[in-house]
Amino acid sequence: MAISKEIEEFLLNNAVERFLRYVKIWTTSDENVESVPSTKIQLDLGKVLVDELKSLNLEDIVQDEFGFVYAYLPPSKGFEKVKPIGLLAHLDTSPAASGKDVKPVIHRDYNGKEIAFIQDKELTLTPSDSPNLEEYIGLDIITSQGDTLLGADDKAGIAEIMAACAAWQKFPELKHGSIVICFSPDEEIGIGIKKVNEKKLPKICYTVDGGEMGELEFECFDAWRASFKFKGLSVHPGYAKNLMINAIQIATRFFSEIPEAESPEHTEEREGYFHLAKLQGEAEEAMARMIIRDYEVENNQRRMDYLKNLKNAYEIRYPGLKIELNFLHQYQNMLKFIEKKQKIVDLAKQAIEKTGVELRVHAIRGGTDGAQLSVKGILTPNIFTGGQLAHSRKEYTPTLALQKAAEVLIYLAELWTQER
Ligand SMILES: [Zn+2]
Repeated sequence: MAISKEIEEFLLNNAVERFLRYVKIWTTSDENVESVPSTKIQLDLGKVLVDELKSLNLEDIVQDEFGFVYAYLPPSKGFEKVKPIGLLAHLDTSPAASGKDVKPVIHRDYNGKEIAFIQDKELTLTPSDSPNLEEYIGLDIITSQGDTLLGADDKAGIAEIMAACAAWQKFPELKHGSIVICFSPDEEIGIGIKKVNEKKLPKICYTVDGGEMGELEFECFDAWRASFKFKGLSVHPGYAKNLMINAIQIATRFFSEIPEAESPEHTEEREGYFHLAKLQGEAEEAMARMIIRDYEVENNQRRMDYLKNLKNAYEIRYPGLKIELNFLHQYQNMLKFIEKKQKIVDLAKQAIEKTGVELRVHAIRGGTDGAQLSVKGILTPNIFTGGQLAHSRKEYTPTLALQKAAEVLIYLAELWTQER
């Protein structure tokens, strides 16, 4: 069935009201902390959500020691046998920009020109920052005041899931099976999902953490980290001839041999890269860290072979030099797991199309919590929130996206009731 005008309006008002409240709650995570939650403030938003989930009649609501919030929505009558699905969003915002004292501003009826920020006169938001803005002329756009990020990543996702829950409570004619809600900590620093209680999640989940309206993602990078130790020999520079092996000097030469064309600043879309993230040291010893990314495992294998061969060549070129080189597989491309059960993607595509927004399938140039879950057999594509320019003081979302993403969740749950 199609969602009525009344429900559309309800979803818009409900999601926007929640979003404007949630972004004001400070939840920035801290990349220098290795325990979960990395910041206690994430629990504050979790507590608010626990109370609100109770008032929406969800069951088995818990906030655990790591800050995860889980809740269970029983199926509507007659749909007890439908496969359960999970809906996930994350509580934290990126430490890349301040998320404290966020004051959201609604710019009504966007005119296609530049949006100004009250707290930073130098800062502007224009279609050259985000071409999608051209499509949003006439819509209401939410930004921060320019002194903080907005936090649509991922409080838009939370607000959309909560608005869908509110609609399922208010409009019993909306069909759905069992739904598990999970709000997770520390997504932005990559450590939260390791603490998820897998037993609580169904085998089919969706994160609501994507970008532009209509977006659907189910492919991410295959990701490796290379760690290097260059072991040289320090000698007084005045008496170093034929003796010194200058580890840091040799390391800079070594990394100058990485193909420039395969760097983050020269690649886009489906192209992979090497990225030297850290290099430090002295004559005696130097260390470096590099990340390697591609959608295709074979391309990363080629990059790693290149580094191994280069290491061997350098140890021959500089007798006495030792290079330790280790690789860590950080995460895998989720596509190879998800494509085994194409239905999960197909129904999400249909749900997006039913809302009338244009479907946009993208491959993520990074990772997602869904990738880590998919490896564990919990298949998890990523649905749009509408938030764009995440991790930035220019971050924004059209209010319409908050409604449309909530609609997608309603349609998606209904589509799953037709699968047996
Ligand atoms: Zn996010």
